Amino acid sequence: MKGGERKNYDVIIIGGGPAGLTAGLYTSRSRLNTLLIEIGLFGGQMTTTDLVENYPGFPQGITGDELSRLMEEQARRFGLEVVSQNVVKVKLEGDKKAVQTEESSYRCEALIICTGTEYRKLGVPGEKEFAGKGVSYCATCDGAFFRDSKIILVGGGDSALTEALYLTKFVKELTIVHRRDALRATRIYQERVFTNPKIKLLWNSAIQEIKGDSVIRSVIIKNVKTGQVAEHPTEGVFLFVGLSPRTQFAKGLVQMDEGGNIVTDENCQTSVKGIFAAGDCRKKLVRQIATAVGDGATAAFAAEKYLEVKE
Ligand code: NAP
Repeated sequence: MKGGERKNYDVIIIGGGPAGLTAGLYTSRSRLNTLLIEIGLFGGQMTTTDLVENYPGFPQGITGDELSRLMEEQARRFGLEVVSQNVVKVKLEGDKKAVQTEESSYRCEALIICTGTEYRKLGVPGEKEFAGKGVSYCATCDGAFFRDSKIILVGGGDSALTEALYLTKFVKELTIVHRRDALRATRIYQERVFTNPKIKLLWNSAIQEIKGDSVIRSVIIKNVKTGQVAEHPTEGVFLFVGLSPRTQFAKGLVQMDEGGNIVTDENCQTSVKGIFAAGDCRKKLVRQIATAVGDGATAAFAAEKYLEVKE
């Protein structure tokens, strides 16, 4: 591309997780000229998942890395073009969509947003200071650093429990700190957690501060029922308190809910004609790899129909 000249595509997909890779497979296989823009690793959050047990077709489970690699290989097979760039803005130019990255800009007829989510921060003193020095949001990335340690993990959803179970491969003892007296996670993960001898649960509890010097030494925990505050020694703190959609770049462009999730109809069509959203970044009840893949196929199909009607 020459300086200032913009390349035109039939379809641009932002995000290369399971939704984006599926959308890319479908549109490129339908011979639509497609660009997929991904700043990180292909596979998105799958890449930080140790074992995926609930994606059909792999009866013994499959590692997140391997599933990501297979989806990427299949998506590229039909000529999908990919670039590693960070999208900062999307603008409408008539019925065309202009996609601005930090390095370049592109134009397309149909846009599919598949940017997924990122782990929410807890927002307590010490969290920022000890990030990467004992505070972690990724068990598969950092678990091995905590071999034979005693650690704390916060959250009661599927992420918290699956990551806690994975961490027991390394740690001596893991305490789940949860703000209520019931877990949100799927029953099968709860059963595994309750029967794992390395895992303890601290109910009705909230972390107020993470303390240490060059490394983490302790956390201050408040019992939200009794008001009692106590200091607990720990070597690491893993935080899994929910997900925030990565949709900042599309604020003001498409309708979102108060949490920044993109609102779509059942065909993944957003409030703007020709812009679709698929996977975890859209407002929906279930966030699984299987549902992201379904969204990706739906959005790609809907984009193809949109282009046919437009011609
Ligand atoms: P989530 O389901 O929203 O759960 C977040 C957890 O963090 C909840 O237990 C919540 O407590 C707690 N929490 C939220 N804010 C907090 C705060 N400020 N302080 C303390 N605790 C706080 O998020 P998730 O576990 O990341 O899962 C997100 C989606 O991905 C879900 O749809 C999930 O099913 C899916 N997922 C699936 C799998 C799988 O199937 N293997 C794995 C990972 C994620 P409350 O319960 O009190 O609200």
